[in-house]
Amino acid sequence: MDMNKKSKLGFVDENQFSGSINYSFPLSKISWLKVGGPVDILFRPKNLDNLSRFVSLIPGEVDVMPIGACSNLLVRDGGLSGVAVKLGGSFSEIEIKNNEVKLGAGNLSSNVAVNLSELGYDLSFLRTIPGTIGGAIAMNAGCYGNYIGDYVRSVEGVDKSGKIIRLSRENLKFEYRCSRLPNGFIVTSAILKPKIEKKGAIEAKMKEMVSKREETQPIKKATCGSTFKNPDGKSSLMLEDSIDFKAWSLIDRAGLRGKKIGKAMVSKKHPNFLINLGGATSEEMESLGEYVRKSVYEKFKVSLDWEVIRVGRKSN
Ligand SMILES: Cc1cc2nc3c(=O)[nH]c(=O)nc-3n(C[C@H](O)[C@H](O)[C@H](O)COP(=O)(O)OP(=O)(O)OC[C@H]3O[C@@H](n4cnc5c(N)ncnc54)[C@H](O)[C@@H]3O)c2cc1C
Repeated sequence: MDMNKKSKLGFVDENQFSGSINYSFPLSKISWLKVGGPVDILFRPKNLDNLSRFVSLIPGEVDVMPIGACSNLLVRDGGLSGVAVKLGGSFSEIEIKNNEVKLGAGNLSSNVAVNLSELGYDLSFLRTIPGTIGGAIAMNAGCYGNYIGDYVRSVEGVDKSGKIIRLSRENLKFEYRCSRLPNGFIVTSAILKPKIEKKGAIEAKMKEMVSKREETQPIKKATCGSTFKNPDGKSSLMLEDSIDFKAWSLIDRAGLRGKKIGKAMVSKKHPNFLINLGGATSEEMESLGEYVRKSVYEKFKVSLDWEVIRVGRKSN
């Protein structure tokens, strides 16, 4: 790391924090797409106080970005400047009180669905969504007609100054594939009110969703899932609804199934998924995405918006 950068990030005194701190950490190591350059600092806090104190010491000019499992992130090859905060196992509580559940933001969404099903609480739609609860809230993740925002009562987290605050659902304004979290806000936990259902019925739903996914999507490949939002704002999995305006259908009808740039490919199984065939760069992934957008626009005059979040610098 160059000296200039090091002095800007000199606020970090490793002895003060029990979490882990890595410098120049290659995000390709943890991203689902297996691409992306290094982040200056990757911080994995041990607990809420630890996180709050750390954030309070970060100078205003240093960027801070919360990340989960990077299942919806395309980190560019030149990497990210500043600090990425990743919540893990220390933020994985699941507590139930008065039929509401408090979920640590570091929980994997699929684990939450399975664990709650044992107790008769139905968040079965989370079973097939990769990533963490923090990422699911930021993205208002959903499938099969359910969105996490419909279940959220409040969230707790750390703001840009390091203060721990609680936001009610009215502050979050959940919309299709986004919520309005304040800039730089790190969600650490959320309270949700799931529906109550028989354990067997929830398990059956999850089983059906898993097999439907396996049948229709390349879920075992390096991908970020749906690359573009559906222009009509509905789940790409509700195939029976207004098929003509699904992103996958537009891409398919533009003849792009299997289109490749370098090692990046439009999935043949589900054309709204871009796949890293092994060794792709971020630039190849992004160029392929832009090629898809341009082709769809030329053919149908429909602008596809990225659902995958692109961050960081292009490499020189
Ligand atoms: C195979 C596959 C299938 C998918 N299917 C679906 C689907 O059906 N429905 C769907 O909605 N998505 C789907 N996705 C996309 C992705 O899984 C979701 O968006 C997921 O919720 C992202 O969670 P994450 O922890 O990986 O977040 P990341 O990708 O790490 O981050 C995504 C965004 O969330 C923010 N964020 C992460 N953690 C926090 C936090 N603690 N506090 C504040 N902000 C935070 C990040 O800053 C970033 O803006 C799929 C992805 C894959 C790979």
